[in-house]
Amino acid sequence: MISVIENARERSQYSNMLTDLALKSGLDAVGVSSAEPFTDVRIELERRRSAGLHAEMQFTFRNPERSTTPTRILEGAKSLIVGALRTNSPNLPEAGPGKMKIGAYARCDYYSILRSALNVVAEQLLEDGWKSRVVADDNSLVDRAAAVRAGIGWYGKNGNVLIPGRGSWFVLGSVVTNAPLSVDTPISKGCGSCTSCIDECPTGAIVAPGVVDARRCLAWLLQAPGEIPIEFRKAVGVRIYGCDDCQEVCPVGKTERRNDSASSSHEVAIIEILEASDEELLDTFGAWYIANREPRYLRRNALVAIGNSKTPIQDRILSVLCEYLENPDPLLRAHAVWAASNIGRSDLLEKVFGDSDQTVRKELERLPEFQK
Ligand code: SF4
Repeated sequence: MISVIENARERSQYSNMLTDLALKSGLDAVGVSSAEPFTDVRIELERRRSAGLHAEMQFTFRNPERSTTPTRILEGAKSLIVGALRTNSPNLPEAGPGKMKIGAYARCDYYSILRSALNVVAEQLLEDGWKSRVVADDNSLVDRAAAVRAGIGWYGKNGNVLIPGRGSWFVLGSVVTNAPLSVDTPISKGCGSCTSCIDECPTGAIVAPGVVDARRCLAWLLQAPGEIPIEFRKAVGVRIYGCDDCQEVCPVGKTERRNDSASSSHEVAIIEILEASDEELLDTFGAWYIANREPRYLRRNALVAIGNSKTPIQDRILSVLCEYLENPDPLLRAHAVWAASNIGRSDLLEKVFGDSDQTVRKELERLPEFQK
């Protein structure tokens, strides 16, 4: 029981013990920071929100005042023990014929592994007479800012936290506690003159070092509600969820990459998405952020993937595409129109020529054959 910490030596010993425990529990990097409010981060999030850079992204921008104030998570919070868990770090081959690509961090439920490891630390704190709470993958704490303050890594120009020599292929979470721990020093390293992620982002979404315009970011557009804006559909390629391009091009930790393809899948069949029921889709992909928990957005992404397929379209996919041209959901009919036209099969569109829905009409009116 260590419910009283008398001096700096005890503080440092207790912090080291908790850090070791976190590493033994499976985390790949751990740091400790104070639980002072992240005032500079709040000001920056509010600035980006006023500039419209957040799109409708709830995750980071829903309530900056709350997510930058750890005492809103735990009354009397004094310290944060921040942990990073390594995810898949591809260069895996492109998705195969009829398949869609899954972003590295979504290939297995890394957040539940992360939470279990953080829970071990939280329980130790409780056992020792302190209060503790685990936060990971929710809106309650600015996890990247916490990781930077805890000395785990630096803010890369792609907006991710970069761990020296290891890169940004990590998920982050924290234990918030009222124990007064000794804190780690933020690291002074940075990206230097490298601009690879800014130059290589397929939609030019990194508008300044560390500033991502969510309205252009493919990872966000794939999980956002509504239509995928026409100007970005080609860039979506055959992704169903997540985009790794700004991490793929990053030189930091390139030689350290690891793939767990045996324990997780990097691709999913288009047909599987388009033929599954709502329940089946939520059962399989429920750990992903899906706008309003509506599986129609996974189907929307699958239709865009058909339109972007570089290999000949299988007959089964073509026949499902025809069915989607008559789907009761106009959003899906509209994306099916785009897909059919993009693979040179405007001959399939006859059945929607008389469609009176505005979204579908707008899609049709873009086609050259409609402008004759
Ligand atoms: Fe920084 Fe270069 Fe990596 Fe971008 S690609 S995060 S600029 S090191």
